[in-house]
Amino acid sequence: MVKIEQFLVGKMDNFTYAIIDEKNRKSIIVDPSWDLEIIIDFLEKNGIENTFIINTHSHFDHVVGNDQVVKRTGAKIIQHKSSPLKKDIGVSDGESIKFGESEIKIIHTPGHSGDSICLIIDDKILLTGDTLFVGSCGRLDLQGSDPNKMYNSVYNKLISLDGNLIVYPGHHYGSTKTSTLGKEKSTNFVFKFHSRQEFLNFMDR
Ligand SMILES: [Zn+2]
Repeated sequence: MVKIEQFLVGKMDNFTYAIIDEKNRKSIIVDPSWDLEIIIDFLEKNGIENTFIINTHSHFDHVVGNDQVVKRTGAKIIQHKSSPLKKDIGVSDGESIKFGESEIKIIHTPGHSGDSICLIIDDKILLTGDTLFVGSCGRLDLQGSDPNKMYNSVYNKLISLDGNLIVYPGHHYGSTKTSTLGKEKSTNFVFKFHSRQEFLNFMDR
């Protein structure tokens, strides 16, 4: 089992995460952007070696710290294979990454961006990047956004996942820093549409 540390960083309410394998003293930093000295110092102080970076998508505020983390820790960068940025490992939908005794499953959830992924760790933790926030979802009016694909990601993928998963979003835009997928399914407006057309009409406003 891994432990997850959540860091609220920068001026855009971004969350960076450290997925920590306490037994093997290794970590993965998810979406490094700002305030990395605090995060890297925290890991070093606890004798933890950071071996990977995972970016939930290629937007600036989720990757701007990659170089600094690579320089300090030599971490390898994991992104969806369609990301246009520099990476060491490109992953696909349904793929699993072994991390110590844990398993990190990749779900490709395009919509906010074409290369957005969500991560399921040990069937307990769900990192959603900018695909799903507490109470809302990522913007769909940006270059590379696609509301039609977002509909598929939410209604063909996320909605069928276990409600007990703890949601760790990419930004602190909600009333709480985490949630459960079950709570989001019953309260988040993103899950409330009855048809694709209704979803698209709303998102195109
Ligand atoms: Zn984004």
